[in-house]
Amino acid sequence: MDKVELKAYGKINLGLDVIQRREDGYHELSMVMQTVGLFDKLTLSKIPEDKICLTTNLDFLPIDKNNLIYRAILTMKERYGIKEGVRAKLEKRIPVAAGMAGGSTDCAAALRGMNQLFHLGLSKEELCDIGVTLGADVPYCVVGGTVLAEGIGEKLTMLPAMPRCCILIAKPGISVSTKFVYNNLKLDESTFHPDIKGIVDSIKKGNLKGICDRLENVLETVTIPNYPVIQEIKEFLEEYGARKALMSGSGPTVFGIFTSKNAAYKALRAMRSIKEVKQAYVVDPVGREFIGGTKDEQ
Ligand code: ATP
Repeated sequence: MDKVELKAYGKINLGLDVIQRREDGYHELSMVMQTVGLFDKLTLSKIPEDKICLTTNLDFLPIDKNNLIYRAILTMKERYGIKEGVRAKLEKRIPVAAGMAGGSTDCAAALRGMNQLFHLGLSKEELCDIGVTLGADVPYCVVGGTVLAEGIGEKLTMLPAMPRCCILIAKPGISVSTKFVYNNLKLDESTFHPDIKGIVDSIKKGNLKGICDRLENVLETVTIPNYPVIQEIKEFLEEYGARKALMSGSGPTVFGIFTSKNAAYKALRAMRSIKEVKQAYVVDPVGREFIGGTKDEQ
């Protein structure tokens, strides 16, 4: 095998809570993550020369060590003494810097791809251990599906699949710095904390209404006052029949959960009237059985 093709799926947060700031600057989180059917395509091929060549369809993305794909390949080469080179071709479709873990999922796909390409036989657990050294969301992206992520995002509890639904994802054309959001988050006794346990229990019961009733993201308290278009998109989605709409991660991507595909597509078409929305998709939730690339499922 000289070439592998991988799908790197994006995620949304069905719930996101920040428990506390740690001494080391990281934040202790409690998040319910859900993989969605919007993915980047990553192709890895072996090349004889000992180097890493990364190309992408978006010319503003870094193609050196600042790209997590490059770092993932380099880490695997060094760790496992791989002397052959690797060509990586990224076709980016997940909105960039949008709260959908685009870089982390590409990184996880690169780890899985290297595992396959060089027959390393590593388990998901082993890939997660390598992944956490590259980014806090990478272990989740290695595993995928519906997961409770705690700690800095690396302590994972697998949950049953989310009930069937349609998800409309809308990304306004603004950039939100994750650092700015976390730095400006007010954490004191007045901070509202989402009912993460209630979301988890609703997932276990297959209760979509219970999930939608509790969809909350504490980071909205920073992002929405600074970028009111996020609130506008949320209201628009709920007006068009979403059971609930929420910002994902540190934003600015907003998603709405629909029980009817027709309603979701109707909202997608109507969304053209919101000029600020630059990317919009209707997708399904994706289960972890679709995330390949480790010895566990070979
Ligand atoms: P998160 O949801 O984990 O906060 P995000 O979706 O907000 O992530 P990314 O799309 O991962 O953000 O991009 C953040 C920055 O990371 C980009 O501005 C880019 O310079 C850098 N980056 C590094 N590697 C990648 C990659 N493979 N794809 C996209 N961005 C990357």
